[in-house]
Amino acid sequence: MRRISIFGATGSIGQNTIDLIAREPEAYQVVALTGASNIGQLAEDARRLGAEIAVTAHDHLLDDLRGALRGSGTEAAAGQAALVEAAARPADWLMSAIVGAAGLAPGLAALRQGTHLALANKESLVCAGQLMLRTARESGARLLPVDSEHSAVFQALVGEDISAVERVIITASGGAFRDWPIEDLAHATLAEASSHPNWDMGQRITIDSASMFNKALELIETREYFGVRPDQIEVLVHPESLIHAMVGFNDGALMAHVGPPDMRHAIGYALHWPERRILPVQRLDLAAIGQLTFRAPCETRWPALRLAREVMETGGLAGAVFNAAKETALDGFIAGQIGFTQMAGVVEEVLDRISARPGHIDATMTLDNVVQTDHLARQEARDVLSKRAG
Ligand code: NDP
Repeated sequence: MRRISIFGATGSIGQNTIDLIAREPEAYQVVALTGASNIGQLAEDARRLGAEIAVTAHDHLLDDLRGALRGSGTEAAAGQAALVEAAARPADWLMSAIVGAAGLAPGLAALRQGTHLALANKESLVCAGQLMLRTARESGARLLPVDSEHSAVFQALVGEDISAVERVIITASGGAFRDWPIEDLAHATLAEASSHPNWDMGQRITIDSASMFNKALELIETREYFGVRPDQIEVLVHPESLIHAMVGFNDGALMAHVGPPDMRHAIGYALHWPERRILPVQRLDLAAIGQLTFRAPCETRWPALRLAREVMETGGLAGAVFNAAKETALDGFIAGQIGFTQMAGVVEEVLDRISARPGHIDATMTLDNVVQTDHLARQEARDVLSKRAG
């Protein structure tokens, strides 16, 4: 029986992971399930799956969680330290699907323990890629990509030599505003930005898809995960979202990964790696689909892509600044403080402000430095937000 944990269990990726696990209850011992606000879902799944412990990120919800778990045999805990402690419990595999930089500390705790980490939480790789990879190397744990693009690249590289790779192409649906006139983007509403044409995902990543900040994070994630140079990574707009990524080799071959837009494919691949197992996802009928289309991304429409390239060139802790500024700008858009197109401006200003302060961006990458940089960038971003909103 494999011992597994699901962090961010109440979210979109977490629920898709539970969907797969619940089909074979005899194969898994669930160690920890975690969530934040959705105590009802967390307790229901913990009971159903017989989890050893359920953790909410919010201290003030501990009594609610205890109440919901009464008589179940599942332990209840709350807060950041409890998340890290639960991640450090012996397990074979942990799904890291918390949204945002909050996923970093639990992910690192699992890696330190030698637990294979299925990584949906791209933000932790963007903030602290070198630290995550170094920690995994030291403990012998594997980092298994769950983002569909990175899972696709990972699969295309099986049996290949990375030195034969010339380029990596990650695709983007283009999100909610792909075909909108650029001049209309400034007036895009929260409801419009929160609806994705192809994927059913959490609200934050859906808005990040519309702004391409999601693809920007994925550019950095590609660089960190596969160790390729920034100029070897391309983004291609592919509205059908069926090809998730392509790897170009030095003999001119392009290996494309084609699959339905269903995260259970990438989750299942990471769950069963290095084997392939039958998964409950749609089988594509390419004749019925008829055609696949591609276009180059426009950096005027999506300035996040340009910013990500600058961050990759800078390296070090620039990813942590970028992610924190992006998360704060997104909070500002969700709260109605700034408009949709202002998010990129906030991020750019924070990057400029912090790069003007020597000693921050190129500091050694430790968890403390990353957390400090994250806090500093959020502080600057809040300042920029209040000035722009005012
Ligand atoms: P959701 O918003 O649906 O879920 C987020 C999860 O994190 C929930 O369990 C939520 O708890 C929990 N959470 C929220 N804030 C905190 C916090 N401060 N500390 C601890 N836990 C917290 O997100 P998604 O499932 O869409 O995305 C999760 C991650 O996976 C993100 O990094 C995203 O970029 C990545 N990803 C998602 C894809 C998708 O298809 N959804 C595709 C590829 C990557 P609660 O709901 O109880 O408040």
